[in-house]
Amino acid sequence: MNKPFILIVEDDSAIRNLISTTMETQDYKYHTAASGSEALIEAVSQNPDVVLLDLGLPDMDGVEIIKKIRSWSNMPIIVISARAEDRDKIEALDAGADDYLTKPFSVEELLARLRVSLRRINYTQHIGREQVEFVNGDLRVDYASGCGYFAGEELHLTPIEYKLLCLLSKNVGKVLTHTYITKEIWGSTWDNDIASLRVFMATLRKKIEKNPAQPQYIQTHVGVGYRMLRIEE
Ligand code: CA
Repeated sequence: MNKPFILIVEDDSAIRNLISTTMETQDYKYHTAASGSEALIEAVSQNPDVVLLDLGLPDMDGVEIIKKIRSWSNMPIIVISARAEDRDKIEALDAGADDYLTKPFSVEELLARLRVSLRRINYTQHIGREQVEFVNGDLRVDYASGCGYFAGEELHLTPIEYKLLCLLSKNVGKVLTHTYITKEIWGSTWDNDIASLRVFMATLRKKIEKNPAQPQYIQTHVGVGYRMLRIEE
């Protein structure tokens, strides 16, 4: 693989420099943008492998940038923002972001998230080997094609939602701990990951649960983790 090419969108020069230096240590190529309009020009003209996106930019909200990029590209977008509320994260993910990191973040954490985004295609191919398909009630996961379906309709899942769905479905009936899940998804277990897991679980449930407040498929075990239930036919 060629060197990954990362677009860094951040108006705070100290954070921009920190991220740029981090990219240099990994020998990744990068461009930087300090505003939304610059970010859009760079995204179109440079076609980066991954976009690292701050939400609070001087000229536009990062969520608008996600929507604009998603109108023509599915390039991975990782949001890096000081907004810590779950609803802000869900808004960004609903708009099409792939992952979310809350400031302050550690460099190792950023790199772990970046590696997940860079690997996502390989993962989809890899998971198909042992088992082809999973069916549970109205839910169907086609591991070979990397698609999920609910009541016959294809689900529009982000790569992380899809990984989560695969992990839960391959362990149907078992309680998976927060630590186990975050290790499988991100290869790590920082506090931010457990907070992110709650957010991704909320966005996944919106897609597969008729009533996300009373989930049928994914059960929460407070303080422990999550379990996919086998639906009785
Ligand atoms: Ca900012």
